Amino acid sequence: MSSTKDFIIEQLKKEISGFQVKIEEQSVGRVLKIFDGIALVSGLSEAMMSEILTFKTSRGEVSGVALNLEENQVGAIIFGDYTAIKEGDEVLATKRILEVPVGEALIGRVVDPLGEPLDGQGKITASKFYPIEKIAPGVITRDPVKEPVQTGIKAIDAMIPIGRGQRELIIGDRQLGKTALAIDTIINQKGQNMKCIYVAIGQKESKVSNIVSKLKEAGALKYTTVVLAGAASSASLLYISPYSGCAMAEYFLDKGEDVLIIYDDLSKHAVSYREISLLLRRPPGREAYPGDVFYLHSRLLERSCKLNKEYGGGSITALPIIETQAGDLSAYIPTNVISITDGQIFLEPDLFYKGNRPAVNAGLSVSRVGSSAQIKAMKKVAGRMRLEAAQYRELAAFAQFGSDLDIETKNKLNRGQRLYEIFKQDQYQPLAVAKQVLIYYALTNGFLDDVPVKRVREFEANLYQYADLHDEVLKLINTRKALDEEIEKLIKTLLADYKLTLDYLLK
Ligand code: ATP
Ligand code: MG
Repeated sequence: MSSTKDFIIEQLKKEISGFQVKIEEQSVGRVLKIFDGIALVSGLSEAMMSEILTFKTSRGEVSGVALNLEENQVGAIIFGDYTAIKEGDEVLATKRILEVPVGEALIGRVVDPLGEPLDGQGKITASKFYPIEKIAPGVITRDPVKEPVQTGIKAIDAMIPIGRGQRELIIGDRQLGKTALAIDTIINQKGQNMKCIYVAIGQKESKVSNIVSKLKEAGALKYTTVVLAGAASSASLLYISPYSGCAMAEYFLDKGEDVLIIYDDLSKHAVSYREISLLLRRPPGREAYPGDVFYLHSRLLERSCKLNKEYGGGSITALPIIETQAGDLSAYIPTNVISITDGQIFLEPDLFYKGNRPAVNAGLSVSRVGSSAQIKAMKKVAGRMRLEAAQYRELAAFAQFGSDLDIETKNKLNRGQRLYEIFKQDQYQPLAVAKQVLIYYALTNGFLDDVPVKRVREFEANLYQYADLHDEVLKLINTRKALDEEIEKLIKTLLADYKLTLDYLLK
């Protein structure tokens, strides 16, 4: 009897000794509540900020990201169809921070903020993934801004120059050509060793598709990625879109390349963040934005930089766009972003409706670092241009009332009128810097004084054609980038010869 008992005990002991508990470390939670693209989840005490969560629903897996880490629950935003998620569904924490595909494979493509293609051109096989949130490069790794980004827009390159690694805000009311400035700048980057990323945040898809076809037409899609979170996208996709665009830019930065990134626009981004924050029950502050809305944009824009040689020498130049209401620069989001950036380009309705397009206001626009990046030739011809342009408008307003003007004032008004004619520039027609130098040289040295104001644009267009035929001057400006005596002499001869061909000046 006892021997059978011993036998059984022995057998059991053997069985038990072979038994090993296999516990995989994985935190599993359950959905407490789901509403408006937000899920509250219990049981994920180990969850990290921005960690990807997988929701197991009856209709398959849906992913989300942890955003609120509270004592007893985690608040998450959902990407994709949140209606599939039900209360009580299982949630897995993946221990991975949200990341997007990056690399050369994304160039020439239109993708959503998660890096999924939207252009019907097939799958994107990216070699690498980058986290969408990253701490900005530190002071030690940076260099001052000293190389120009040629926007090809006369008013900007002369008055508000932008350098590689700079953050320059484009700000103005709706429909004043903010997007147009950004797109023209992308088009002008052809052959300038620049990768471009256009992040469309809450823009109409029809508008973006128009932009994409314009970029394609201009041959600019070859170096551009479009990240699109359309107007109908969920607040969570709108919220992450600038960060994922920035991650895509950082790949090229790490390779020592130069990148230009456009955030169009950050007002809509702030609104999407407000929506998420309010749904997550964060306390509303000024204009109902959450208290950390400044940090929302500062941590994004700080990631634009010019790295020094030791760190590869790459750069990210950012052109964020902000839409104002009735030109109010002192609203909450505009003042925030103005204080984070290195200057702003302010677009003004008055100028726009009078036909002065692009409608850049010289007095309120400024570039705090870019002038050190201007090529010497441009600096020489356009050094005082912003001041003169701003003064002209004041003077013109004042001169309306007086008939007796002294000769100096008259001269200033004449120059100013012609200057504003030169600032006019059609959309999708960026202009090479050498030609800009040429026309500004003509203006500041009096070659335009006898050209009737109405014919300035015609004079200008024909001048460029003429200069193309005698292109040694343009070539010299491009290679030497400065105006030495020899070049100045050549320019003067070119301008004088050109004027001889204009019959309306030979009265
Ligand atoms: P929104 O607030 O809707 O985003 P926006 O400020 O980005 O508008 P755009 O869409 O770029 O403005 O331009 C508004 C309109 O002005 C467009 O019809 C565009 O074609 C026109 N426009 C912009 N720039 C110029 C220009 N330099 N010359 C002529 N027309 C222009
Ligand atoms: Mg726009």
